[in-house]
Amino acid sequence: MADSIQHWIELAIETDSELAEAISEAIYPYVEGGVALEQINFNNRIADRWEEETATGPIVVRAYLPRDETLEERRAGVERALSCLNLIRPVPQPAWRDVAQADWAEAWKTAFKPVRLGQSILICPSWIEAESQPGDIVLTLDPGMAFGTGLHPTTQLCAAAIEERVQPGMRVLDVGTGSGILSILAAKLGAASVLGVDIDEEAVRAARDNVTRNDVSERVTIALGSWKQAQGDYDIVIANILAGVIRRLLQEGLGKTGRTFIFSGILDTQAEEVKAGARAAGLQIMDQKQRADWICLVCEREQTTSHKDHGAGGK
Ligand code: SAH
Repeated sequence: MADSIQHWIELAIETDSELAEAISEAIYPYVEGGVALEQINFNNRIADRWEEETATGPIVVRAYLPRDETLEERRAGVERALSCLNLIRPVPQPAWRDVAQADWAEAWKTAFKPVRLGQSILICPSWIEAESQPGDIVLTLDPGMAFGTGLHPTTQLCAAAIEERVQPGMRVLDVGTGSGILSILAAKLGAASVLGVDIDEEAVRAARDNVTRNDVSERVTIALGSWKQAQGDYDIVIANILAGVIRRLLQEGLGKTGRTFIFSGILDTQAEEVKAGARAAGLQIMDQKQRADWICLVCEREQTTSHKDHGAGGK
């Protein structure tokens, strides 16, 4: 072959952190080796505390298509996926450029950067040696997985709430686990057992891989389906889904499965309806945090008895 150097076509779309996740999932089937989300508002610092960052700083979604006989088919797939998303929200025009193999390897690795969440959580791609500080909780998540890279404002809000509330020995239920990010975080904070559920098979596969990669398999179980298979009483129930879904789950009885609830995926315009749903399910609203247009609610089940002992009750 005259051309022994493999060439690639790079696709780059500059967008915000919400759309970045959706674009990443939509184009994933057509690209090779996953999708990189590159956060570019870090003032030259690779990983910073997210609280100090502007909420909707730009993200570059970067992916690569091999320049071979599959190129046109893949490119058509990407364009179809983007035009579907465009029906929901305008997607910026992608920039396409040619890169040689050597550049590709470099571009690929530098596109992934560690992300800091909450006080001391560091999300790191597996090939990067995490530059962690003492006390950091390091999660290794490879890209191209299900929703839950740590860049979405709702994931960040939930991560901070989990960091504040999960205590060693607790039982945690994570409804809509996606990449497994919040389940793994709860386990790393000392939860004795975590059940992460998702109705999407791809998410379940990705979450299981990530659980193994993070060495928390003994304490984290990932299951296909929704919360109804969850047995018993959880100290903390997390659901980062969507306002409408959370309301429905509350109507179905989710409020009886736990003591503390962390809900997100709620737009600020929907917060009141979710709060009303939570109150109707016997929950009290304890805290509300906002990042960009997104709200995270922390609720507690109203106590019917005057029990003082709220021990983590693992056994
Ligand atoms: N927990 C992750 C992912 C959130 S995305 C994070 O915080 O980043 C929401 C996930 O909920 C998706 O993976 C979706 O498949 C899942 N989902 C949607 N409806 C659900 C339901 N009724 N029960 C369980 N999972 C659901």
